[in-house]
This record gives sequence, structure tokens and C-alpha cells, in this order.
Amino acid sequence: MSNFNFDVISLFPKAFELINNSGVITRALEKNLINLKLHDLREYGEGSYRQVDDKPYGGGSGMILKPEPIYKAHDSIEKLPNSKTLLMTPQGKVLKQQDLLRWSSLDQLIIICGQYEGFDERVRCLADEEVSIGDYILSGGEIPAITIINGLTRLLPGTLGDPGSLIDESHNSFLLEYPHYTRPIVFKDMKVPDILVSGNHEEIKSWRKQKMFERTLDRRNDLILNEDYKKLPKSKTIKEDSNEMMKFRIGNGYDIHRLVKGRNLIIGGVKLQHPDNLGLDGHSDADVLSHSIMDALLGALSLGDIGKYFPPTDQKWKNVDSLFLLSKVIELIRKQGWEVNNIDSVIVAERPKIKPFVEQMKNNISKIMQIEDTLIGIKATTNEKLGPEGREEGISCHSVALLEKKE
Ligand code: SAH
Repeated sequence: MSNFNFDVISLFPKAFELINNSGVITRALEKNLINLKLHDLREYGEGSYRQVDDKPYGGGSGMILKPEPIYKAHDSIEKLPNSKTLLMTPQGKVLKQQDLLRWSSLDQLIIICGQYEGFDERVRCLADEEVSIGDYILSGGEIPAITIINGLTRLLPGTLGDPGSLIDESHNSFLLEYPHYTRPIVFKDMKVPDILVSGNHEEIKSWRKQKMFERTLDRRNDLILNEDYKKLPKSKTIKEDSNEMMKFRIGNGYDIHRLVKGRNLIIGGVKLQHPDNLGLDGHSDADVLSHSIMDALLGALSLGDIGKYFPPTDQKWKNVDSLFLLSKVIELIRKQGWEVNNIDSVIVAERPKIKPFVEQMKNNISKIMQIEDTLIGIKATTNEKLGPEGREEGISCHSVALLEKKE
């Protein structure tokens, strides 16, 4: 038996010849990592004409696949212990990478392809899941089935890459990939970014992370805004019984960073200019506002602090944009079944003047967190020349966050 078995019921099995010329999938077939059995619906047709379709009851255009041949074909397939039947239909749930990942641990997928105007409604009973590959109508289920076979096969061990990487955070959170370049270094006046040829692998890693994030925000912010988070299971880290009635949780966050020469001064994603050219020292970009908000959010759900998720000992967070980290924290909060009600922060800095930049900071933070900027309060104060902030040894920030449980 192969690693993975596809059984496809189709009226046009020839369509699957495409698979025989498609690199990774062809190799997977040759290496017996997958097994593809095509079940020609025609062979299960009725009468001497092997009829598989008929006119719709109640009138209307086009032909409908009859239920009996599909049931017969399905019955004829030997079912493995871990098997699912998928029905290709534009009325199904739209296919996501997560589905492929989920099915890849099965032994077998039985895929039913429709044709013409579709299939008799009673065919739906055969399906464990109904799958659409997008909001458009194709003439048959063969291309959707090939899409699934292709996408799933490349996830199987031994076909492509390292299966461990498939469960890494960026895949799960569906950030789009960073831009790729290959030789030549300059093409039609377009140059490969210097960082990629710098040889500094840590910097390259954080540049790529940053680009993934920017790209997703720019092109597909729906992936971050994704409504699906509302459906995700509620927190397992919080005791269900004591929180059954709890609709709100409050968290408090505090951060301070030293002012030093030779560093950028970034607060709330805004680059400021200190009169003495001082900047904030730290492992990441030392953005005290973003850090204290993250701690307030995590604190509200008793999830610890940012050091737990982005330890300063880990080189991959070196100089990273804290807004990126904030996007990860809010994703975590939403996965736990909570939404931000409001945030209030106060930045303590002697110089430079923070107030003129508050709107810009709010704007950055609301965009990253995908919440209205009216839900974010940012205030700035000096420390009247008292204490470390007053002596300009550092800049600090306090934040509180109120979270509301999603239904
Ligand atoms: N009249 C049908 C569509 C029939 S298209 C309806 O409106 O629901 C014919 C067949 O092509 C379908 O039965 C299905 O198997 C396949 N098909 C077409 N578009 C598809 C899509 N976006 N995703 C999955 N299968 C699709």
C-alpha cells in the first residue's frame, strides 16, 4: 500500500493524464508515495448505453448525474481505515491549505467529480465534506480534484521539503511568502535588495519575516482580519468553569528601554528624532509602546509576557519590527477566542515631544491590530525631570487592555 491513496470517481478519467506530466506528483506516483485509482463513472452507468445522467425533475436546462452510478462506483471502492469522501462542488467549503494539511494524515481520499449541471442531490449523502476550489464555476470536478491531489501530495513526507516546516507558524497563520530573487543581480535596472547578498543570515531572516508581514497586510489583509478566528475554540489555558461567566479580562503592561547613542528611536512604529540623537536600546527595535501593549494583551489572558514568546536570546527577533510582534500577539489573542475592547497607554518621555506623533502611532497600531483607532488611547507625559525618564536615561510606557470574550 502507498503512503496515500486517491480514488477518483469521474466521467472523464482522461483529464487526470495531466498528472503524469507534473513533476513532483509524477515522481510521487513513480516512488509509490501516492497511489491514484481512477474509477470511470461510465462503467457504472445503466443499461446498454451506460447512462449516467438524466434531465432534472421540475424542468430546467442541462443534465444531472444520476445517483445510482455514483453510489455503485463509491461502493466498489475498497475503504481504508482512515478514509474520507470529498464531493467537488462550488457549493462546498472553499479549499484552504489547512484542509490539505488535515487530510494529509489520512490513508485515503475518495473524490467525486460532478459534471454538466451537477449531480442528484442525494449524492451529497456520500460525502464527508463538500469542497469548492473557489467562487467560480468550472465544467467538471476534475480540475478541483487534481488541485487537491497536487496540493496534498506535496505535503507528504518524501515528496517535498521538510514536513516539520509545514506546521511552523508562518504556514499556520497564512502569511504570504517574502519576495524571491535569483541571478542576475541587476535586471532591467531592477536590483536585488542589498540585504539578500549581504551574507548576514540573521538579517536576511528578519527581513524576510518583515516582508511576509508587509505583503500580507498590503495584498491580503483579509488573511489577518480573517473572520474565522471567531469560530476558533476558546482558551484552553483558562479554566472553563471559573471563566464561564467572564466576558471581560483586563491586562496591564509596562516597559522601559534605555536611551543610548547609535540606536533608532521608534515608538508605536514611528521613527522619532531625539534632540541629542539618542535612541532606544534593546534586542528588537525597543518600541516601548508596542511592547507594553503586547504585555497588557498577554497579561489579560494570563499568558505571560512577550519575553516568553520572543525571547531576547533568540537571534531571530534581533532588531525586529515590534509591530510585527504585535500582530502575532493579537493573532494569539484571537485564536484564544477574545477580541480587544480598548487599549489605553501612556508614554513617559522627557524629550522629544511625543504628542505630534500620537495620531500616527494610533494609526499604525490600529492597522496592525485591525481595530478602530477610536479604541486606542495614547497619551504622553514628561516625568518633570524626575527619575530615569526625567533624567533622559530611558523612555517608558504603561498600557492597559480590556479584552472581550467572543461568543
Ligand atoms: N450547477 C452547479 C454547478 C455545476 S458545475 C451548481 O451551481 O452548483 C459541474 C461540476 O463541476 C460540479 O458538480 C462540480 O463537481 C464541479 N465544479 C465546478 N465548479 C467547481 C468549484 N468551484 N469547485 C469544485 N467543484 C466545482
